[in-house]
Amino acid sequence: MGVDLGLKAPAVSVTSTGKTKFIGNGRPNKYIRRKYKSKRSELGQAKKLNASKTLNDKEQRWMKDQDHKISRKVVDFSNIRNTARTSRKNEKNLHTWSFYRLALFIEYKAKLRGIAVEYVDPKYTSQTCPICRNRNHVKDRNYQCSCGFKTHRDRVAGMNIIHAPVIDGVA
Ligand SMILES: [Zn+2]
Repeated sequence: MGVDLGLKAPAVSVTSTGKTKFIGNGRPNKYIRRKYKSKRSELGQAKKLNASKTLNDKEQRWMKDQDHKISRKVVDFSNIRNTARTSRKNEKNLHTWSFYRLALFIEYKAKLRGIAVEYVDPKYTSQTCPICRNRNHVKDRNYQCSCGFKTHRDRVAGMNIIHAPVIDGVA
């Protein structure tokens, strides 16, 4: 199974038979973060620093809870014959705490069920055609290759991750 962690879709899982599951939703996530941010700045300006801190804690708890839910669903979608393979998209994402934590949660929950987790090099996984290995630039929601292969763009990375070379684990 390949798991692609991203911003728009927090996790996309694709099995070796092509079964796909989109997990979580990037948009409410973004919306809620923006809401908390504007509330925090209001409170900050009014020098209500305690209230601002409480709101920050609440946001952190909410995000952590999301990561627990997403990782549980990722692991529920796989079975013990799968190896869950995941990539984190780019260097910038790799070093952000939220991606790191989601990857750790997936790894932890998978291990409890005897599912091995491998991390792969994400280079070109969202561009390469899973069928003919040509690289294509994707302009809209549809991935289309000159060999005739087409699919939803968010599935491509998950499909390629299943066969991508392994890199070192988290940390
Ligand atoms: Zn192709």
